[in-house]
Amino acid sequence: MRRYFLVKVGQSLLLLLGVLVLVFFMLRLTGDPARLMLSRSPRPKMQMIFQDPYASLNPRHTVAKIVGEPLVIHRIHRRGSRELKRRVEELLELVGLDATYARRFPHEFSGGQRQRIMIARALSLNPSFIVCDEPISALDVSIQAQVINLMQDLQEQLGVAYLFIAHDLSMVKHISHRIAVMYLGKLVELTDRNRLFDDPLHPYTQSLNSAVPVPNPRLEARRTRFILKGEPPSPANPPTGCVFHPRCPLAIDECARVVPDFRVVRPGHYVACHLADDKGTSKICDAGVLASEAEVQ
Ligand code: SF4
Repeated sequence: MRRYFLVKVGQSLLLLLGVLVLVFFMLRLTGDPARLMLSRSPRPKMQMIFQDPYASLNPRHTVAKIVGEPLVIHRIHRRGSRELKRRVEELLELVGLDATYARRFPHEFSGGQRQRIMIARALSLNPSFIVCDEPISALDVSIQAQVINLMQDLQEQLGVAYLFIAHDLSMVKHISHRIAVMYLGKLVELTDRNRLFDDPLHPYTQSLNSAVPVPNPRLEARRTRFILKGEPPSPANPPTGCVFHPRCPLAIDECARVVPDFRVVRPGHYVACHLADDKGTSKICDAGVLASEAEVQ
């Protein structure tokens, strides 16, 4: 569980993600999700880093109060105590900020520095597990790399597990150990990083993969992109059977009627697709259904 980077990609529906994936992690952390929700003591084990570092820090609070508040709420240190001040300074240094920044307000920082403050706050209670809701999407590319490197270093140092919600697949490939792909609030594929990028089995994962640019113009020109037809349906009124069937190029009659099980197709590789098997029956290219962008539009 520790030192783990699970990344969730695909259709963003954080509420459903909360129900589906957090319960899974609660079980892993405590063995009892209900107990974790109701009791106070296990809560510090789970923390959150939000997407927008400009909106998620209270502009009227100093950095010292923002980072130290969880320690006061959980009665680890008393407000105004020397221990609290020392711990806040320690956390700021841990995330690469100067300890003297504790007296400043959020508007005095850049986006990358604010995200570091968010990370310091998330780490203040020594969590085992942090949900990172697209923590780099609001940052410049160069700053994104700094924040990701910091998160990886902290993982090495502290042994924390991340559930990293992201849409940038090249970044996902760089940071993840295991990847969960969701479509319309449902998990459709879960496996380790290499297998997901080298040999994806769900048609939705294959289309996502084909959209990742290759930094080689010759290779990029030869690639086939699988562009899905239509728009994602409303999660409030999902399609019957497999929720992906209105857009799936491989859909068969059964797909509109029967919900596919989320099952193990290979060791450690889970897929929710009627056609998924070890022989590649659920491969869009193998089935010859889509050969070019022109054919699918
Ligand atoms: S179950 Fe059917 S519709 Fe769903 S992904 Fe598989 S082939 Fe496509």
